[in-house]
Amino acid sequence: MRSFIATTRSNARRCGLETPFMICPIATNLFEDYASAVMELFDATDRLANLVGQHGPFEDERKYTEQVRGKCSAARSVLEQHWAQHTCRGT
Ligand SMILES: [Zn+2]
Repeated sequence: MRSFIATTRSNARRCGLETPFMICPIATNLFEDYASAVMELFDATDRLANLVGQHGPFEDERKYTEQVRGKCSAARSVLEQHWAQHTCRGT
């Protein structure tokens, strides 16, 4: 369980650190969606860390965290698809 939390944390951290310069308003919107999913993942992971040892609540929160993690990577791939198709990713 500890390793699940550690992995989720490092994923979220990696996501959150990337803030590319963007001139495209569509990409900016997509990035904001993605960033808010990352923040949600951080919060869920913190709650999860506090629930270690409490079997029922931990399981519920773990399921929720998995969902948020899915949302996070979905938002990420939408953004990357947009960058690939629109070639608007700035440097
Ligand atoms: Zn674009």
